[in-house]
This record gives sequence, structure tokens and C-alpha cells, in this order.
Amino acid sequence: MPGGRFRVDLTKATYAEDDSPVVEGCGCAACSSHTRAYLHYLARNKDLTGTRLLTLHNLSYMERLVAGARGAIESGRFAGYSNAVLGGAVPWAA
Ligand SMILES: [Zn+2]
Repeated sequence: MPGGRFRVDLTKATYAEDDSPVVEGCGCAACSSHTRAYLHYLARNKDLTGTRLLTLHNLSYMERLVAGARGAIESGRFAGYSNAVLGGAVPWAA
């Protein structure tokens, strides 16, 4: 899903019954213990637990993205890493 991977609006009705994590393979507290449907429910009800969980996910994702970029730069393969991530690969698989 190029172009759409970086933004998932969990308030949309399409996530109301989605039993998958925010990002498959992400080990953060939100993705390892909660479904998109639950986070959709929290977001729709403006529950601060949802905000907290999604913040944990975003920080975890960004940390892994930057760590992957750092490793790719050190090993001289940043162009490939960048292309993979921009093409839709998750940072820990790029
Ligand atoms: Zn996550």
C-alpha cells in the first residue's frame, strides 16, 4: 500500500471489526495486545488510553525506522532500505 502505509486513520468505520494489529509484526504495546477494532473504539470515544497506546506505537515505529536507517547507512545500503520502506516494507523487514 505505497503512499498509504504511513497514515492509518483508526476512526474510520472500516476498522470497527478489524481484528489485526495496527502494523503486523510490530512488537509495541498497542500492536502486541490490542486490535485495530479496539483502538478504533477508543479513538471514536476519545479515550485517552487510545491516545496513549497509539503514541507508544508511533514512537516504537519511528525508533525502529531510524535504527534501520542508521544501520543501512553504516552498511552502505541506505538506497535499498529507503526504496523498500517507501515501497511499503516495514522498517524491521527492509
Ligand atoms: Zn505497534
